Amino acid sequence: MNSKQLIDIENQYGAHNYHPLDVVLSKGEGIWVTDLEGNKYLDFLSAYSSVNQGHCHPKIVKKMIEQAQKLTITSRAFRNDQLALLCKEVCEFTGMDMMLPMNSGAEAVETALKVARKWGYAKKGINLSDAEIIVCAGNFHGRTTTIVGFSTDELYKKYFGPYTPGFKIIPYGDIDALEKAITPNTAAFLVEPIQAEGGVLIPPEGYLKSCESVCKKNNVLLVLDEIQTGLGRTGKRFACDYENVVPDIFIMGKALSGGFYPVSAVATKKEVLGLFTPGEHGSTFGGNPLACAVAREALKVLQEEKLIDKSAELGAYFMDKLRTIQSKHIQTVRGKGLLIGVELKKEAGGARRFCEALQDEGLLCKETHEHVIRFAPPLVIEKADIDWAFERIKKVLENLD
Ligand SMILES: *Cc1c(COP(=O)(O)O)cnc(C)c1O
Repeated sequence: MNSKQLIDIENQYGAHNYHPLDVVLSKGEGIWVTDLEGNKYLDFLSAYSSVNQGHCHPKIVKKMIEQAQKLTITSRAFRNDQLALLCKEVCEFTGMDMMLPMNSGAEAVETALKVARKWGYAKKGINLSDAEIIVCAGNFHGRTTTIVGFSTDELYKKYFGPYTPGFKIIPYGDIDALEKAITPNTAAFLVEPIQAEGGVLIPPEGYLKSCESVCKKNNVLLVLDEIQTGLGRTGKRFACDYENVVPDIFIMGKALSGGFYPVSAVATKKEVLGLFTPGEHGSTFGGNPLACAVAREALKVLQEEKLIDKSAELGAYFMDKLRTIQSKHIQTVRGKGLLIGVELKKEAGGARRFCEALQDEGLLCKETHEHVIRFAPPLVIEKADIDWAFERIKKVLENLD
């Protein structure tokens, strides 16, 4: 079957909750993906930063096959020989004391919300059912009914109420708003160090550090959603490392499995995750040996191949180059490491048509909100590939009317 036929079938039988570029991919290797007709593209989205390690990384492939032939799932009714080691390795990587593995990012966010509420009751002494969690406008934390309830994007939430109570929304990057919003019932503040889905929005310098001290002062847990910004994407282990911030709860997902399998996790100090007792939380697939083996290898690849340093170095190189483009369409270029947003002017007619033009040049990018093109290639990219891509990006941004 060709791409056109598959697109028609998908449009007929699949729900239309996405608006994908019309490219049907069937192969991936490193930074490259290939469509059914054999056209090759540089992947500039990395499945929203799930494949930081590159598509089909051979070491992770090998580990996945080996583990799939041994044991895939036990459920947590029994123990398995991969879970303990993943827990230990994630704690060593994050500097936290305990972790809990889940599958999707949204599930890890839900896990963090649950444990933060329990902490609010058990440790902070909030009256039962009064716990509040503060979040930021423009957030993206996933798609469950609770999470979309505290989104500020009409598209994400409008038809999906009634919403879970107990959340307060404040402006992003505004430390005074955080101080004002905190009450004796505040259990946690949930925030993204960079709002990637929000349009690669970077808060003012020092914001996270101030959040850390305001939370500490008020006995509020600082919960960082590093699902997209973590694991090297922004040129540090986690984006909060830029300000040496240590959260009470780290939320990870996406690249934790190198894009092979949904694996997410919550990592915290002992006082937080230590509060869960048997039966209070769980997941049938969470912590299965296949997921754990894959995630262990994906973390190893990230470190062995020094992908975090690479992201910092090549990200700076790429961003400097992007800033030399003379285009009437560009408003600003911003980012950290290899998470870069090119914001277009309102008159540019939206980022989508630029993404379509880039597709014709062999680059796959996705518009983020209306006016931002996000560049987030796998971290295994080389300088020469960036140069190759840059010429095409420059051409499109300078030549499109
Ligand atoms: C992708 C993402 C999520 C949700 O992860 P899913 O695996 O899609 O559920 C949550 N938070 C952030 C910051 C994300 O980028």
